[in-house]
Amino acid sequence: MDVVRFKNAFLIPSEKPGRYIFYAPLRNQLFWLSEDAAQVLRDHLEEGAPIPERYRLLQDRIDAVLAKEEQGVRPSTMANRNRLVILLSQICNLACPYCFAHEAHSNEIIDRDTLSAAIRYVLAENQSAQKRFIFLGGGEPTATWELLTWAVDYIREQSDGQRCKISVVSNGTLLTESRILWLKEHKVHVGLSFDILPDVQNRQRPFPDKRKHSYDKVAAALELLLANGMNPSVRSTITPDCVTRMPEMIEHLHAHFPGVRGMTFEQVSQDGLEKTDYYDLFFDSFFKAREIAERYGIHLRNSTTTSVLFPKERACSGELCLTPTGSLVACHRASSVRDPLYDRFLLGSVDTAVHIDPERFERVVSFSNEKREACKTCFAFWNCAGSCPNNRTAYSEAQFEALCRFTQRMIRHELETALDRASKG
Ligand code: SF4
Ligand code: SF4
Repeated sequence: MDVVRFKNAFLIPSEKPGRYIFYAPLRNQLFWLSEDAAQVLRDHLEEGAPIPERYRLLQDRIDAVLAKEEQGVRPSTMANRNRLVILLSQICNLACPYCFAHEAHSNEIIDRDTLSAAIRYVLAENQSAQKRFIFLGGGEPTATWELLTWAVDYIREQSDGQRCKISVVSNGTLLTESRILWLKEHKVHVGLSFDILPDVQNRQRPFPDKRKHSYDKVAAALELLLANGMNPSVRSTITPDCVTRMPEMIEHLHAHFPGVRGMTFEQVSQDGLEKTDYYDLFFDSFFKAREIAERYGIHLRNSTTTSVLFPKERACSGELCLTPTGSLVACHRASSVRDPLYDRFLLGSVDTAVHIDPERFERVVSFSNEKREACKTCFAFWNCAGSCPNNRTAYSEAQFEALCRFTQRMIRHELETALDRASKG
């Protein structure tokens, strides 16, 4: 039996033989059904067939579920103006082949007038709201250290008591002890992009001069961050090269960096994955790694598994992302004019003030709200919500279908895990 959809509720065949899942995300309902009960329910929902007396309990439960009012999903503001993603430059001291900015690297650096105008704009919006400033890698933010520290000081100076969270996502190779202490003193959270195993890190995150290795530098930075109680988050990009090694990565993390409590393994965006067993290997390896991580008290995440916790109306509400040339884009992965999707995500520009083009803004909203035809009947609809708009444009149909099968498998597994946990109490 295929997936059945009825009034935003789904009957989903489980990966476990003979079992089905009833899932109504907007009514916060999730339970197991036997194959027989699922068949009865399908006939009832799709064809109006009466539910036999021996399934009285099922009838009562379904009636109660469908009578419940649907909860709306959390509203999400497009290109939230309380949050600024900042790409200080396109300069990077590493040459990672999978970096979104790999093709776009140049020597462009944002100028201080433009940067300060964008910061003031965000601080002036809705002054009671917490503000977030994220210095993202892609250009490595610590490669322009003076500019980074100037910008952090400027935010703190201008914020005038407003609540502000500042974070830096770094490749970690330029984080010396004095820089780490500076970041600590200025309450800047650090996220490290780090591929954990020495051979994987040195291969996937190389210096342009291949004789120099990045692992030792990042490992030293991570140790310093931990020793200074900075609770860094760590994110690894999982390529076909290391896809079977996630359990080993967790073992290594625990053995060498025991203070890390939050870890993210994210699938790579790369051509040709759909022709390989990459996604199946990712699934097996990720969940094995997660079992190990749980034993060590490490919270292992992936954007797909996390999406189960937060039903949403659209996959991405876009960003307010300031690029090194002073343009504003809704997606940091399309931040250079050399990126073919740049024009699609362009929102406006900054000089001495911020200019958001209303027409471009509306175009990004409607593009972000678009779904694929297949989404309408997909049980992952409220979790995946149509997938990342950048991928939706960049991927071929075959690539996208492979990604959808993977997303659905990951989400179904999360639902089954939640049910198993609930039944164990
Ligand atoms: S479009 Fe995709 S890559 Fe870009 S910000 Fe949104 S989710 Fe991220
Ligand atoms: S998994 Fe695919 S079909 Fe399902 S909601 Fe996501 S993009 Fe749509």
